[in-house]
Amino acid sequence: MQGAIRLKKVSIKKKFTEKIRQGYPLLLTEMIEGDIPEEGSVVQAEDMRGSFLATGYIGKQNKGSGWLLSWNQSETIDQEFFKLKITEAAAYRKPFFEDTETTAFRLFNGEGDGVGGLTIDHYAGHYLFTWYSKGIYAFRDMILDAFEAVLPYDSIYEKKRFDSKGQYVEDDDFVRGERPTFPIVVKENSAHFAVYLNDGAMTGIFLDQRNVRQAIRNQYAEGKNVLNTFSYTGAFSVFAALGGAVKTTSVDLANRSLPKTIEQFSMNAIDYEAQDILVRDVFRYFDYAVKNNVTYDLVIMDPPSFARSKKHTFSAAKDYKNLIKQAIDLTEKNGVMVASTNAASFDMKKFRSFIDKAFKEKGRRYKIIETFSLPDDFRTTPAFPEGDYLKVCMIKAG
Ligand code: SAH
Repeated sequence: MQGAIRLKKVSIKKKFTEKIRQGYPLLLTEMIEGDIPEEGSVVQAEDMRGSFLATGYIGKQNKGSGWLLSWNQSETIDQEFFKLKITEAAAYRKPFFEDTETTAFRLFNGEGDGVGGLTIDHYAGHYLFTWYSKGIYAFRDMILDAFEAVLPYDSIYEKKRFDSKGQYVEDDDFVRGERPTFPIVVKENSAHFAVYLNDGAMTGIFLDQRNVRQAIRNQYAEGKNVLNTFSYTGAFSVFAALGGAVKTTSVDLANRSLPKTIEQFSMNAIDYEAQDILVRDVFRYFDYAVKNNVTYDLVIMDPPSFARSKKHTFSAAKDYKNLIKQAIDLTEKNGVMVASTNAASFDMKKFRSFIDKAFKEKGRRYKIIETFSLPDDFRTTPAFPEGDYLKVCMIKAG
């Protein structure tokens, strides 16, 4: 154990003390009066008169300088503390551990489970730890030991997402246990996915879209001609095909998306040659489709919050409305659009306003049939609504 944790003090400006007292877990840089202790320090946040507010750690992550972990002055941040949090998190996921048809889920969701800056995903007995700051990484061994005391595992891998821009740090990501042969095959609502834990920043599947994939398969795909934009490994296309889509077209500009999408179709015994998989800029594909009168019954859009391609810079907050406008041109009358974003910088109300503006400007009617946010394993806390980032609207285009 890193026993010698020195408790440092940070003073919180008056206008933020109430927010922290009420349980807001992110220690924003602007809240702190004076110098910020070094990454990995355990800190006691106090009001300007020196009264205890909360205990946390210093770790730079976007606009944050750290996370608060405890509002109880007699609680110490040690291995026992992390053990307790992981035990609670595992108990909360009991239905997931018991579900034999879904073997990939989030075990620990940062501040939603009481420790901001750390997530742990479970892939059929293998675990992926993602550290979002150098600060939380300072507790790595303590947290791994705590985890090991609570849960059995086949292997542990990790992603470090704390270079200067919060990007993934390239490394051998193996941590403990026995190295499996990749891919690991996981199940999600009975479908299969190939997962890689030691192959760069991403694993092959975004677990937070599980319920959306399920809905696409069970309610939206049958008999439909489907366009999946920003398709990555084609997870939405796979579920659409499993749900009886006539055909799917997956579009992503990354070269790797082609073999990855072929692999995921093949995992599910779907003939990939009967599907279209295009390595292309989505915006170029839109131009092509409009010129050639190509339309779809179901159009799925799940762009990154921010992306730069050769011709375009896409920022969800600025450009999502125009993305929808372009997608409207390709959507059949009475067709459905799946509009998804993981941008934390705007909420559902704002997202709906982008949709509303896009349809108004296009002079088309629409109805939002259904919406999705994060699934239950991506546990969030009401104290930090920003953590509830996923917004998905199923839109019927008139
Ligand atoms: N919808 C996917 C996840 C998308 S991740 C899923 O559910 O699994 C975002 C993807 O957008 C990445 O694979 C990236 O290569 C792709 N991308 C970013 N900008 C793009 C563009 N202009 N055209 C096509 N693909 C793009």
